[in-house]
Amino acid sequence: LMTRDYAKAMAPFFADGVVGSWVNGAIMPGKGVDIELIDPATGKAFLTFKDAGGDVVDAAMKAAVAGQRVWWAMTAAERGRILWKIGAQVRDHLEQLALLECVSAGKPIRDTRVEVLKVAEMFEYYAGWADKLHGDVIPVPTSHLNYTRPEPYGVVTQITPWNAPIFTAGWQLAPALCAGNAAVLKPSEMTPLTSVALGVLSKKAGLPDGVISVLAGLGHTTGVAATTHDATRKVVFVGSPKTGSVIAAQAAQNIVPCVLELGGKSANIVFEDADLKRAVTGAQAAIFSGAGQSCVAGSRLLVQRSVLDQFQEMLVTGANHIPVGDPLDTATQIGPINNDAQYQTVKRLIAAGRAEGAEILAGGVRPDGTACADGYFLRPTVLGNVRNDMSIARDEIFGPVVSVIPFEDEVEAIAIANDSKFGLAGAVWTGAVDRAHRVAANVRAGTFWINSYKTINVMSPFGGFGHSGYGRSSGKEGLMEYMQPKSVWTET
Ligand code: NAD
Repeated sequence: LMTRDYAKAMAPFFADGVVGSWVNGAIMPGKGVDIELIDPATGKAFLTFKDAGGDVVDAAMKAAVAGQRVWWAMTAAERGRILWKIGAQVRDHLEQLALLECVSAGKPIRDTRVEVLKVAEMFEYYAGWADKLHGDVIPVPTSHLNYTRPEPYGVVTQITPWNAPIFTAGWQLAPALCAGNAAVLKPSEMTPLTSVALGVLSKKAGLPDGVISVLAGLGHTTGVAATTHDATRKVVFVGSPKTGSVIAAQAAQNIVPCVLELGGKSANIVFEDADLKRAVTGAQAAIFSGAGQSCVAGSRLLVQRSVLDQFQEMLVTGANHIPVGDPLDTATQIGPINNDAQYQTVKRLIAAGRAEGAEILAGGVRPDGTACADGYFLRPTVLGNVRNDMSIARDEIFGPVVSVIPFEDEVEAIAIANDSKFGLAGAVWTGAVDRAHRVAANVRAGTFWINSYKTINVMSPFGGFGHSGYGRSSGKEGLMEYMQPKSVWTET
């Protein structure tokens, strides 16, 4: 493994080496139980910090209430300028943030660079929106003047997972602030460092204290306190359906609405008339990038039976050639799975698939070489002979494992794609324009790609159907989730 200097990676953001929450413009150490951070590439702990707990959450909420007043009292153009400057800080610290994400979350450095740049783009995009938010004048039938004012909720709580930590943080912080809210963000206890670093950079950009807080802590203590606190007026959750359901119930105690961005089991559909070479490359990127730890991963690969053997052969050859290894190595395309619990889940689901009759065509094993001896590594895995009723085709796997499911015709492909409780994303590969748009219209999913996979942009709305959640993130729709309209009536 390449040299992993954790202290050096942290130094730009944690000046005195103390890791804690970002509260009221400073690092605040927690008082709860010890939490160990483990480097997924080595399986070894490299840092311990204390769970934030209720007192730190309370301090963050108080600071958020005060900070939001200052923030909302500024002009919209001033807020936009500060958002732009946060984006500039992120750009200026691109290499440092990418390195910290790489060594702490186990993501390949080539991916973390791209994701950090996207965070800068998110702040820049919403910087442009800040002074373009205005209401309507309604032509009511009486003599009144009736107009709307889009207003922030006040304080919003955001809970995020471990698979794309800084990306997800920026994805939710930028629109929340653009709309005039203060945000209290609790990233996953397994990957909090780059989210706290974003808090640090926001101060350098001139953001008033308290407008961003980042809680370093556990879900069942700090997360519960942050979602049930009296001060929070909206909860945005990105994570698993199981936790999402619990969090929506927690928020409901205070009549607080939620946005839920949950998991998926997306169908990637390949027809015989597709450009198969492009489709194979796309199918690999769909499931293997990020070691499959992506909510939109194309984990069900539906292939028309007439090209099944040919396509499977191309897919297996491709999978066997993808470089897996040290995330610090720029040649690495697939790094480790983020944590041991997830590693065990992936292996258990593969074993269950085999027991139900699926066949391992590629991968399923730890990669060769000393670099991968101790971390949570798995070779890109292709499972053949999968039926859509097997657990491997129904449960989200969140690992570099694709299930190949054959189909006969378009009607069957759509039926299989829709035979899932999830509805996050999907794709179709075909040369026929009419078929492409028919399939796009008929698959139940919040995002759908034609002859492409995984392209997303901060300008476009993103979100789920069914068990993949509700509400939307990014784009104009994501911004609207952070605002509520007030209707003002004037007697003229
Ligand atoms: P998770 O649900 O286990 O945890 C997510 C977060 O919730 C963590 O920060 C955790 O500490 C917190 N949490 C747990 N219990 C809580 C409680 N009772 N109250 C408040 N907070 C609590 O998810 P994970 O394993 O970290 O992430 C993987 C999941 O995230 C997958 O299902 C994946 O599909 C999903 N995901 C969805 C999207 C999307 O946009 N739809 C994006 C990325 C990941």
